[in-house]
Amino acid sequence: MSTAITLAEAKALDHADPLASLRDRFALPEGVIYLDGNSLGALPRTVASHLANVISTQWGEGLIRSWNTHDWIDLPARVGDRIARLIGAPAGTVVVADSTSVNLFKALAAALRLRPERRVILSQRGNFPTDAYIASGVASLFGCELRLVGAADIASSLTPDVAVLTLTEVNYRTGERHDMAALTSAAHAAGALAVWDLAHSAGAFPVDLTATGADFAVGCGYKYLNGGPGAPAFVYVAPSHLDGLRQPLTGWLGHAAPFAFADDYQPAAGIDAMRVGTPAILSMSALNAALDVFEGVDLAALKRKADRLFDLFTAELVAAAPELELVTPTDGARRGNQASYRFADGYAVMQALIARGIIGDFRGPDIMRFGFAPLYVRHADVWHAARHLADILSTGDWDRPEFKAKAKVV
Ligand SMILES: *Cc1c(COP(=O)(O)O)cnc(C)c1O
Repeated sequence: MSTAITLAEAKALDHADPLASLRDRFALPEGVIYLDGNSLGALPRTVASHLANVISTQWGEGLIRSWNTHDWIDLPARVGDRIARLIGAPAGTVVVADSTSVNLFKALAAALRLRPERRVILSQRGNFPTDAYIASGVASLFGCELRLVGAADIASSLTPDVAVLTLTEVNYRTGERHDMAALTSAAHAAGALAVWDLAHSAGAFPVDLTATGADFAVGCGYKYLNGGPGAPAFVYVAPSHLDGLRQPLTGWLGHAAPFAFADDYQPAAGIDAMRVGTPAILSMSALNAALDVFEGVDLAALKRKADRLFDLFTAELVAAAPELELVTPTDGARRGNQASYRFADGYAVMQALIARGIIGDFRGPDIMRFGFAPLYVRHADVWHAARHLADILSTGDWDRPEFKAKAKVV
């Protein structure tokens, strides 16, 4: 934990930051401090021109020929290989497809099929809702049970009936990060498989799926990977499970020979078996262009910067707004790139911040989230954000009816 600093000192940290120039690769609006890249990543500048070219040249002129001439058909695997590099996975183990929710469904079902004699999916209470809902749907389809336990009870709940342990590495609400290697080892020692959700991990800090021994993983394209709203998600399958991989959404593009138009389904060899239907070429092209900003970027350096931003932000608030309760671990190894504060009127406080151009978000019942996407957030940004937050609290500026009206999307 560091101590509060001056704006000049924050600007000096930006000046000395070796990653500072990466911010220029994003089109960020003037007057906005964006601390919500953990929910929807900012727009990399090259995306618009790349997408315009895909639309006018590849689609407009190439028409259906582009499936071959621009290799649209293998775009899911090519973008998957680029993401693989960011999450410590070998080439040929990641494919981009569908949404995180759908990929989790496929991964959980594929994992259950590898442990047919066991009847339990184990997960954590307070996981992101879609993860619990999907796990519950898969469990009922397979006649299995979904068992939800608190974070402290996960390892001790790996009983011999557990087929699959499924967790999100970084908790969306608190920012707390599991020890993926230790929990995966514990699952394996108990004879279970481990399915990880990397929604708040991929592109945020180094992930090493190979070293942790994870069996399956899924994650979002639109958070720290900056692929745009509703960008397709990714799914990873460990090399040892690729052979004989069976998932239940047996669509034609997961077939061994889709263009043979055979009557019977034969799964593709390798990761292509996780594909379902026609890929969303436009949004996948946006994600593909967005990944350019990661070329040559060291994820460990990104995490070090995110940790500095976290320390700066939290130190300012310890000094200026001691009434706020930080729920995110202060140990950098135990959290993702966000700071979460519990405050009963957090929704209104966040709206007051947004009215000042400082964008974070709120997760009920009482959590304000501030994400530090280290590719484009500056030290001076978090300094200003902390000052405004403290000012809003001390003046009571948040206590206005217009800040309390709940929007449809929070
Ligand atoms: C954001 C997020 C998702 C999103 O799933 P979609 O299918 O893309 O809506 C899933 N899981 C976690 C843990 C998330 O944080």
